[in-house]
Amino acid sequence: RKRVYLLSEGNKDMKMLLGGKGANLCEMTKLNLPVPPAFIITTETCLEYFEEGTGDLPAALDYEFALKAIEEDTGKKFGDPLNPLLVSVRSGAPASMPGMMDTVLNLGLNDEIVEGIIKTTGNERFAYDTYRRFLNMYSDVVMDLDKEPFEEVITSIKKRKGIKLDLEMEAADWKEVAEEFKKLNPNVPSDPREQLRGAILAVFRSWNNDRAIRYRSYNNIPDEWGTAVNVQAMAYGNMNDGCGTGVAFSRNPSTGENKFFGEFLPNAAGEDVVAGIRTPQPLEEMAAKWPGVYEELYKYQEQLEKYYCDMQDIEFTVENGRLYMLQCRNGKRTAKAAVKIAVDMVKEGALTEAEALLRIPANQMDFFLHPTLDPKAQKTRIGEGLPASPGAATGKIVFTPDDAEVMANMGEEVILVRKETTPEDIHGMKSAEGVLTALGGMTSHAAVVARGMGKCCVSGCTAAEVDAKSKVLKLGDVELKEHDVITIDGSTGEVYLGTVERRSAAEDEDFQTVLGWADQMRKLKVLTNADTPDQAAQARKLGAQGIGLCRSEHMFFEPERISSMRAMIVAEGKGERLQHLETLSLFQREDISGILKEMDGLPVTVRLLDPPLHEFLPHSPDEMQSLADTLGKPFSVVKDRVKQLQEVNPMLGFRGCRLSVVYPEITEMQARAVARAAAANKKAGLDPKPEIMVPVVSSAKELRLIVPRIEAAVKEELDKAGVDVKIPIGTMLELPRACETADQIVGTDGVEFISFGTNDLTQTVWGFSRDDAIRFIGRYQEQGLLDFDPFARIDEEGVGGLINMAIEKARTKQPETKVGICGEHGGEPNSVQFFHSSNFDYVSCSPFRVPIARISAGQAAA
Ligand code: PEP
Ligand code: MG
Repeated sequence: RKRVYLLSEGNKDMKMLLGGKGANLCEMTKLNLPVPPAFIITTETCLEYFEEGTGDLPAALDYEFALKAIEEDTGKKFGDPLNPLLVSVRSGAPASMPGMMDTVLNLGLNDEIVEGIIKTTGNERFAYDTYRRFLNMYSDVVMDLDKEPFEEVITSIKKRKGIKLDLEMEAADWKEVAEEFKKLNPNVPSDPREQLRGAILAVFRSWNNDRAIRYRSYNNIPDEWGTAVNVQAMAYGNMNDGCGTGVAFSRNPSTGENKFFGEFLPNAAGEDVVAGIRTPQPLEEMAAKWPGVYEELYKYQEQLEKYYCDMQDIEFTVENGRLYMLQCRNGKRTAKAAVKIAVDMVKEGALTEAEALLRIPANQMDFFLHPTLDPKAQKTRIGEGLPASPGAATGKIVFTPDDAEVMANMGEEVILVRKETTPEDIHGMKSAEGVLTALGGMTSHAAVVARGMGKCCVSGCTAAEVDAKSKVLKLGDVELKEHDVITIDGSTGEVYLGTVERRSAAEDEDFQTVLGWADQMRKLKVLTNADTPDQAAQARKLGAQGIGLCRSEHMFFEPERISSMRAMIVAEGKGERLQHLETLSLFQREDISGILKEMDGLPVTVRLLDPPLHEFLPHSPDEMQSLADTLGKPFSVVKDRVKQLQEVNPMLGFRGCRLSVVYPEITEMQARAVARAAAANKKAGLDPKPEIMVPVVSSAKELRLIVPRIEAAVKEELDKAGVDVKIPIGTMLELPRACETADQIVGTDGVEFISFGTNDLTQTVWGFSRDDAIRFIGRYQEQGLLDFDPFARIDEEGVGGLINMAIEKARTKQPETKVGICGEHGGEPNSVQFFHSSNFDYVSCSPFRVPIARISAGQAAA
């Protein structure tokens, strides 16, 4: 087995084996771009390392030949004090995981070699700057020492000298830093080969550090892939003012604008840009300073974008006026940029519509539904940084990622404020509405990660003084404490005090273009789950083709109505109950009529009452007393009724069609309300298309009892009104037994459609309570027992298997049966792909996910 590849031996299609970074380095080498020589240890070797479990490198791994090849290529020698080869040792997984794994730079230094460098180059400052970087990184990454004491050393020297910037540090200062670092960690091996072994091991290990594991679980990257290791000759950006380092994008990764864009730090090393320690300069300044280098870089980015047919993210270093390409990859981008780039590349003829559609990260498209700041809103500006990731967010400020997570779990919207973010902050960034950092450029970790998450971010707000210890943020004269509210605008970089009015970006022209492509390609219809006329109108604007689920109980929860509902539930005897049902019927008719009007001409599926009756009743003695007073009934009547309806496990209890079985009059009332609403709209010249759906069915026998009752009530009302409206009746498949007997269910007279309730189906197939599973699902994911939350994304194996079986049975029996899904999965991209493959007729999802579902359905068919 080949474990080590030279750059001349690989290509861009070998990402699984060589990692993304390595594969692209090979490709750039093939294209004759100036790439420092390197070798790559395969991802398989990383897996081998974990399998062997000795804590040492796999015995069969031999890279001496490759090291020799680099030596020959560079004319330098690893460990030779008078002509030393230094290398970088960098991780590189098959999928990009920016900043999550480890890297050691400038490896191959020791006291003697540093002396040698000084002797041969005469550049003492460079030698010690490089040495202290190496000592620091090796101690941190390979030996896992705390970073803080190292930072402390530099801070105290700067303080003593009254300087702020690294650039102001002189040779003697870096020498002192290096000496101090050696005291802090006297155990860095001085043998370069031993250093190399340690660094390779550290990169392997970093595949399984906490943040990498977390990142993989957020991004659905399999744990089984492993990382490659890239060992590459160093190019030095920190030698003198003729050197520098930078990051560039072939188009703007934030807005998508087709303009070469990037940042650059003179006399600095690569990690300085990414870590956001200094705020870099725009590339235009490099163009002014070194036009030749800029031109060369410009040519390469154009070439790479054409070659890869996608926006490129490039890392480069300039060493004494010579350009070196250190990395290229398809660039991470915001939702807005993704859409603009896709549309532009179709216009430029670089991509077909189908290809471009497949590039759209569907799950980030809710960015367009989230608000941007209303330009007319009143606002108090308190600061400005870089527009690192667009969108606008308002929230309470928090200073640590843990606080962000805790507050978000309590339902609070927070803005995470950091001096700079590090990869350890990722869970806090995920929890926050937006991120504000004092340091770091457009390509800093915070910016890159926020863009990947579609999260709004302002970085490099240099006026911000962030004191995470005392939890204070100072912006000029304004001093803010933890939990004070601010608003940030990631599209302009501005920071405002308090809440600022926002508005939707859904009208974005490019976004509409992408939706148009999706609509043309998709086979699935996209309906919505909506319970009010407002939601119906909203969803229709977003492209919903009807309502697949109107949860009728939501109409009874309205404050003015709940008392009629309660009166009905505690009624003594049928006569009294019917009287209250009549009032409820009026309310229901009104609402349904409003919804039908908003969805005129499109199907509106009204589902019969689902929750157990006790959910409508109060439980505390005080509330029961007040209900008794309102109804003019004795306290004991209310109390007894509550007690009678109490259930140990209501989710599996007296709900859904079971209510219809016991209280047929409730179902009749609802059927009448639907028919009356339809009749009224029809008479008003509209085109109502209501449907009635029976929930939580477990056997065809239930339907045989209930469906005729619905039909009779509907017929009576329509006859009375003298109008003809077709009101199809269908049922939900949300219990395993219903799926097992789907043929009998669709074979029931009067049943015309089935809709999978994947929330309850997931609950009952897994036996996970949908209201409680959150307590352990996270732990299941961490331990690799679940790749994702099955309540969010359909479990194709288990739940999906049952669904496919049910569809097969249903379609064999009744090929015409309409098949839909109305659980939460209806708006989740991977699940939509599954529903497409399983030949569903429609998905129904919440209004704000309608565009996501449209795009996903288009992608599934593209
Ligand atoms: C379902 O169970 O998937 C469903 C849509 O119904 P509800 O969420 O109302 O139980
Ligand atoms: Mg359900």
